[in-house]
Amino acid sequence: MSRSRIVIAGAGFAGYRAARILSRTVRKHAEVVLLNPTDYFLYLPLLPQVAAGILEPRRVTVSLTGTLPHTRLVLGEAGGVDLDARRVHYTDPEGRAGELDYDTLVLSVGSVSRLLPIPGVAEHARGFRGLPEALYLRDHIVRQLELAAHTDDAEERRARSTFVVVGAGYTGTEVAAHGTMFADAITRHTDGRGVTPRWMLLDIAPRVLPELDERLSRTADRVLRKRGVDVRTGMSVKEARHDGVLLDNGEFVPTRSLIWCVGVRPDPLVADVGLPTERGRLCVDRYLNVPDHPEVFACGDAAAVPDLTRPGQFTPMTAQHAWRQGKTVAHNIAAAFGLGERRAYEHHDRGFAVDLGGTKAAANPFHVPLSGLPAGAVTRGYHLMAMPGNRVRVAADWLLDAVTPRQAVQLGMVRAGSVPLDTASPELVRTPRD
Ligand SMILES: Cc1cc2nc3c(=O)[nH]c(=O)nc-3n(C[C@H](O)[C@H](O)[C@H](O)COP(=O)(O)OP(=O)(O)OC[C@H]3O[C@@H](n4cnc5c(N)ncnc54)[C@H](O)[C@@H]3O)c2cc1C
Repeated sequence: MSRSRIVIAGAGFAGYRAARILSRTVRKHAEVVLLNPTDYFLYLPLLPQVAAGILEPRRVTVSLTGTLPHTRLVLGEAGGVDLDARRVHYTDPEGRAGELDYDTLVLSVGSVSRLLPIPGVAEHARGFRGLPEALYLRDHIVRQLELAAHTDDAEERRARSTFVVVGAGYTGTEVAAHGTMFADAITRHTDGRGVTPRWMLLDIAPRVLPELDERLSRTADRVLRKRGVDVRTGMSVKEARHDGVLLDNGEFVPTRSLIWCVGVRPDPLVADVGLPTERGRLCVDRYLNVPDHPEVFACGDAAAVPDLTRPGQFTPMTAQHAWRQGKTVAHNIAAAFGLGERRAYEHHDRGFAVDLGGTKAAANPFHVPLSGLPAGAVTRGYHLMAMPGNRVRVAADWLLDAVTPRQAVQLGMVRAGSVPLDTASPELVRTPRD
């Protein structure tokens, strides 16, 4: 009899964890196949530090083949699932079609940037959901400040040195907090031709970090304003143009940089599967099983997982939940092979950590609010512990950043057209073939 096959689509927090556990526990019973467009797991929470030139891009990646020796990696992007035939259709990095039959399927394809129907945003804004966008932003900031320094047109200089971040959740807040430090560091090294970087952070909500504890919001707000970030709450964008942004109060802000951090929506594959969804996320039961399909599981951002600690609600889209859901999925699949008992997913939030750059952070580990240096130390320590690999290199980059100036060079390898906001694949650079 041939071995059973478990296909895991998506090697992020949830899929990577599931593959890591399953490749140990069910190795004798089943082949574990991981389908992912890239050959690495991406530690998304440190992406703002890539955009700010603190971490080199490879630092926030962990090799899949290097760390999952008993898992078969198939490079590709799932494009559809045939539930009756138990088959996943995918496209490989060279555009060739492929298919994988499964006995058990785990859908852990994560999420993509959320768009809002605001004129001009899809054309002029750039998202922040993948490594290509972080690389693009790093280069873009350097380039804009260099161009600002070499123009004699005061208006153009002001527009090029203005950066508008929309969305003050943890992603937008970290991007603005790190971005302002990065831009200041770059201008210190330019020839001082009146370039004064200006960062704006907008959110329709009444406070920054609206989804987190108010004490974290206050800390973040204080740090941002002290650094000169123009924080505008209760405000949104009415229109984006090539030369600036029109705010909903009628003010026009000249800029070449609109960074879209308004949140995420599940990967479009979820809708294509044709199973019931809840706000775009695939419905699962407390065991992370898709109802009426005992062979299909879903977890992470892509799944609407009932939150047993808050009845009637679903678990938020965070790495904290995705990582633990990956473990639950692995246990429940192993249970189907007679290895242990299946268990319901239940996790009490353990607080959050928002890195604000330098020694600053806002954190509430186990709901104890921290700010300043203790928060900074806890946040960085937490990331080092949470990363499944590459810790020494990350720590080395942090050390280097503390003792050497940031490198103000733009390699220009990821251009604006390669990272459209409206994409189902933020992990990939769009090439002319696409
Ligand atoms: C900039 C940023 C900072 C963040 N900071 C934090 C933080 O500090 N703390 C926190 O808790 N959360 C944070 N989050 C949220 C957290 O990263 C996500 O909730 C988490 O990554 C979700 O895990 P996942 O496994 O569902 O998806 P992901 O980790 O996104 O993984 C999805 C995987 O699926 C792959 N994939 C996508 N489509 C397909 C397809 N069609 N076929 C095959 N594979 C596919 C992707 O390439 C990826 O490898 C942050 C998010 C961002 C963007």
